[in-house]
Amino acid sequence: MNPPIETPMAIGLSVSEAQTCILDRIVPLETEEIGLAQALGRALAEEVYANRDLPPYNVSAMDGFAVRAADLFEVPRTLQIIEDIKAGDTPRLTLQPGQCAKIMTGAPLPPGADTVVRVEDTRPLENDKAEFPISVKLGTDIRLRGENMRQSDVVLQAGEEITPAAISVLATVKRAKVKVARKPRVAILSNGDELEALDEPLDLRKIPDSNSHALMAQVQNLGIEPALLGIARDKPDELTSFLKRGLEYDILLISGGTSVGDHDYVRPTLAALNVVMHFWRVEMRPGHPIAFGTLGNAFVFCLPGNPVSSMVCFEQFVSPALRRLMGHRRLFRRTIPVRLAQAAKSRQGRIEFVRATLSRDTSGDYIATPDASQSSGDILSMTRADALLAVPSEHNGLAMGETAQAQLLETAMWQHSPNIEKIL
Ligand code: AMP
Ligand code: MG
Repeated sequence: MNPPIETPMAIGLSVSEAQTCILDRIVPLETEEIGLAQALGRALAEEVYANRDLPPYNVSAMDGFAVRAADLFEVPRTLQIIEDIKAGDTPRLTLQPGQCAKIMTGAPLPPGADTVVRVEDTRPLENDKAEFPISVKLGTDIRLRGENMRQSDVVLQAGEEITPAAISVLATVKRAKVKVARKPRVAILSNGDELEALDEPLDLRKIPDSNSHALMAQVQNLGIEPALLGIARDKPDELTSFLKRGLEYDILLISGGTSVGDHDYVRPTLAALNVVMHFWRVEMRPGHPIAFGTLGNAFVFCLPGNPVSSMVCFEQFVSPALRRLMGHRRLFRRTIPVRLAQAAKSRQGRIEFVRATLSRDTSGDYIATPDASQSSGDILSMTRADALLAVPSEHNGLAMGETAQAQLLETAMWQHSPNIEKIL
């Protein structure tokens, strides 16, 4: 095999160029087999096939009576009940003219029957008879054999996320185990002399290390349990030993120290450890000083120290990378077009990710209100945001009433229901 051709580090890529640079280097990890109880949120690494027709034969869609539609051309009509068929039973008798069978939802239709009449539309009579006051259309309330799935059809695609509904399908086709890509091992490192760990006593001169924990939670959100390596001080030797440990993982996330300050040692120290840096500084705000490198199969993301920048960079670059490693086909957050309730500021030449809350106008369309604070150090603004509005780099801000694409965050997935809350 030829050695990979190393391109020089790119400076000033656009967000989509940087995403391509990352994702081009990533293929899903090796596969493993897991049980259904462990499968939620993973991505299928194989196609899943139907193991039979479903329903396996024509069944009733309702509790009622299996009839011959021709018997009910003229109504009211009284029919003789010849059998009682429950789901899982095998009908024994063939319906003759003037006969019907009591049938439960999911039970197989007896030979001779072509239609189901729901029990609400009948009247019980004595001596195993029932009266049918109204006529029915041929084929009513029957689920046909193979209507939901056909033997050997692909029912789930490789790369599909295993949702609760997919788990239901897997159980239906008797797949107790499925093949998925293994989870990536992720390490998180914070960097900076000024940082104070969560378990250290409060010192107002220091900066609490929130990024380790925010990144941990963002990784956990993808179903991965990361390792927190702690805080590396701004000393090349100390940083080197932390980075060596971190490079044993599939993904190393480092926050802080990636900019051009006198104490920003991360990138040179990585270079000294033979990490190939592919890009630095992406034309975005917040998050400009992000860098990305690789060492063999290990991927290193150098995230900016500002708490909002770190989270926003995770969303744009780390999250798609992790999802691709896990074999997901859908890598990016869902975006929806929204109308701006107020103007959004941005600088031409950089894509701006604007924190915003979402609501609906009277016609039901989504409108976005940019948060009053767009400072990259203001983490509270991130707790209020339902979405990140992407203001494209060719714009110099967006005016009130203009449309932007909103990347939906966790808080956008659930909504208040004032009517219900009144009752509660
Ligand atoms: P840096 O990228 O190291 O220049 O840091 C930029 C800003 O982010 C500085 O104000 C840092 O104190 C802050 N910062 C760096 N790392 C963290 C962290 N782990 N948690 C919270 N803030 C941080
Ligand atoms: Mg620093």
